Amino acid sequence: MLKPAAIALALSLVIHPALPQADELDKLNLPEMGDSSGSLLTIAEEKELGEEFFRYLHAEMNINKDAEIQEYIQTIGSRLTQHSDNPAYRFHFFVVMENDINAFAGLGGYIGVNSGLILMTEAESELASVMAHEIAHVTQRHLYRGVEAQQRLSIPTLAATLAAIAIGTQAPQLGQAALAAIQAGNVQFQIDFTRAHEEEADRVGMQTLASSEYDPRSMPIFFEKLQQSSRYYGRDIPEFLRTHPVTASRISDTRGRSETYPYKQYPDSLAYQLTKAKLRVLTDTNTTEVQKYFQAKLTLGTTEQRTVAQYGMGLVALTLQKFQDAESIFQSLAQTYPNQVQYGTALARTALEARRFDVALDRYKKLIEKFPNKEAIKLEYAESLLKTGDNKQAQKILATLNADTQRLPVYTQLLAQVYGNLHQPAQSHRYLAEYYYATGQTREAILQIRLAKNSRGLTPQLEAILDERLKFFLNREKDETR
Ligand SMILES: [Zn+2]
Repeated sequence: MLKPAAIALALSLVIHPALPQADELDKLNLPEMGDSSGSLLTIAEEKELGEEFFRYLHAEMNINKDAEIQEYIQTIGSRLTQHSDNPAYRFHFFVVMENDINAFAGLGGYIGVNSGLILMTEAESELASVMAHEIAHVTQRHLYRGVEAQQRLSIPTLAATLAAIAIGTQAPQLGQAALAAIQAGNVQFQIDFTRAHEEEADRVGMQTLASSEYDPRSMPIFFEKLQQSSRYYGRDIPEFLRTHPVTASRISDTRGRSETYPYKQYPDSLAYQLTKAKLRVLTDTNTTEVQKYFQAKLTLGTTEQRTVAQYGMGLVALTLQKFQDAESIFQSLAQTYPNQVQYGTALARTALEARRFDVALDRYKKLIEKFPNKEAIKLEYAESLLKTGDNKQAQKILATLNADTQRLPVYTQLLAQVYGNLHQPAQSHRYLAEYYYATGQTREAILQIRLAKNSRGLTPQLEAILDERLKFFLNREKDETR
């Protein structure tokens, strides 16, 4: 029988500092490393599993909803995957708003990075090195290879299991439920966690990192940082930190390999600095401390670093609803750096939150003209249009979002609002159902579909869609509660 720790040990794919004691691994009762006799999942199954995995994470964790942060992490991820050994594979990157230092990969190319890890990095290449390592786990198919075909768990149960494993101790209840499911389902996971896989992910990850024009030397630097940080955890070291030890040999191998690349400077993007500033404001519960943090940096470092501190101060002012302060900070930044999109959106957001709707709409509109490919602006613009009752225009803007953005739960949530305002309750309930489903709330999804079916004036086409979705959700609920 697998102990919870053993399962988490086996499948949580993260970068981990060294174990406090070398014999720790044995105590954790590693499962057998048999050969991969289990069959691989089909592409469709893997995709479905990935979506389910993401759904469960939504139900259990605080997945970032800030469109700008989402856009940033996806941009870094895309730059890396384009240079990975499988550029055709579709990846989905997201940020988890948790202070623990963690990053993990699920099936279907879903890669999560905790805000705590991002804030711990001191260079963009360090963040990229973690992501490149996770990407390599996926492209090298380390995640797991052997779900026995004959005794396979249902996809939802399997996804719940993987989600529990990925987030480990952060959701103990889900962990227990998943464990019971594994035992009941008599599934043989053939665990592909080996030291060799870690080394392979490092090696392949570094190639990806270097060809994506990130600093290969950042990988050993960040590993060392992780190793040092683990000393502070003592016996309370988080589950994931136990699992993939960053050994001295891993660090020295990585360093040796990184030094074969010619030395050069890799400046951080300003977007990296601004994203970190925003994460700091969004994740810290002590606003006064954050304010002090940025205050101290206002007069330090390069011009760019000082502007980042100003941006941070502006976000703090916005959090405290000191709209005039925020307005004057962002005005000055946006005027000085008109091509830096984050300053423009912060200024528009300030008007929106101060309920100066006309100003906000005007600002977003101009930003969209200037930065037509920025999905985050479109989402915020649609949100402002909804607040001012311009539902038709909001609908139009939502229709221009790309496929990746339309996968985000916020999309169906906004669409549900649009239809609600347009007095089309069937469509409103339908999209609200999709929102609930996407965020792991299957029962609420079923309720919404039923409300949609009871609405007046359904076309036969919509009725057919609703019937199909209801059937699908009911099946999922059955699987989940089994
Ligand atoms: Zn790893």
